[in-house]
Amino acid sequence: MIPYAKPNINNSDIKSVIKVLQTPFLTQGSKVPEFEKKITEYTGSKHAVAVNSATSALHLACLSIGLKKGDYVWTVSNSFVASANAAVYCNANIDFVDINERNFNFSLDHLIQKLKKTKKNKLPKVFINVHFGGLPDNQKRLKYLSNKYGFKIIEDASHSLGASFLNQKVGSCKWADMTIFSFHPVKTITTAEGGMITTNNKKYFDKLLLLRTHGITKNKDQFKFKMQNISYYEQQYLGFNYRMNDIEASLGISQLKRIDKFVLKRNEIARAYLEKLKDLPIFFQRIDKEYISSYHLFVIKINAKKVRFKSNFLIKELRKNNIYSCLHYPPIHLHPFYREKGFRNGYLPNTEDYSNLSLSLPIFFDLKKNELNKIINVLHKIFKLYA
Ligand SMILES: *Cc1c(COP(=O)(O)O)cnc(C)c1O
Repeated sequence: MIPYAKPNINNSDIKSVIKVLQTPFLTQGSKVPEFEKKITEYTGSKHAVAVNSATSALHLACLSIGLKKGDYVWTVSNSFVASANAAVYCNANIDFVDINERNFNFSLDHLIQKLKKTKKNKLPKVFINVHFGGLPDNQKRLKYLSNKYGFKIIEDASHSLGASFLNQKVGSCKWADMTIFSFHPVKTITTAEGGMITTNNKKYFDKLLLLRTHGITKNKDQFKFKMQNISYYEQQYLGFNYRMNDIEASLGISQLKRIDKFVLKRNEIARAYLEKLKDLPIFFQRIDKEYISSYHLFVIKINAKKVRFKSNFLIKELRKNNIYSCLHYPPIHLHPFYREKGFRNGYLPNTEDYSNLSLSLPIFFDLKKNELNKIINVLHKIFKLYA
């Protein structure tokens, strides 16, 4: 079976992990700060905080903003559930903005309409912008709206490490308060499990550092009370153990050296798909020239006006041919957990339409030319037979 994603692990990655195993510092040694520094250098942000997953990163980003019960968070429903769950962890109210049909990111028109008709006391405190598929769409316009309506921007850049807009790397936080990354094995680089938050805001940075380790500080300049003895430390907030360990960080440092190579290869594969599938009755994610996508996903959306089947059929046919494809994502608002909050079919027409007609094709660094050709040929065959 050709998978839809696969990490690339080379000898340098393996050696760097073994090296950490030979030191006494499996965690809280020098590798986590080193990885954080490398991420700030790569993205152009001032600060970075490594954590044990992007899910934790989203949770801490929301907490550092002070999100609490009664606040509103808006995001998209065409994402992994973690994008919305972060708000629920903080007891905030969640709501969703529809996606646009051009590139499957949030719809600017829908967001503006929704902001205009929402009462002042129900406006969002935070908008979580998911860079779907690796495309950091509409960062500048979103920043303008955040100033106008007074909400903060957390970028869920789980897909988009290595992507850029107007030569600004995702994570620079030029148009966002915080950006979060995932290093799960399907993402552009991996640490097995892991995540990162970047920010240019010192206040958020200081709070994130405490929150990832139980809310504890050992820095005596930050103490609220007098140091009582040499072993003294203070817990100042209710934090968590969301730390990344040094084994993961060393893998991340080693992987980050190849990020541009990874993104380049993904773009090459995407170009081949775009070229070789252009005659099929399908839509692609449109990417304007100011953007470089990291192409975490390569999505195709079936043109329902011209084709009799939906994506579920196509996914099954591909699997019969040993090509693994799936839908990203089953809409968040239609999961039982979110239906309990009152969301129903029909609430987000574009998102629901997308979810019936779309699928992600295999895209990863080690995808072989013959595998790529096979995928392209099988797709042509299925459309010819059944469309
Ligand atoms: C993968 C992913 C996450 C969660 O990442 P973890 O590191 O597995 O917690 C969150 N949001 C999006 C959009 C993702 O793709």
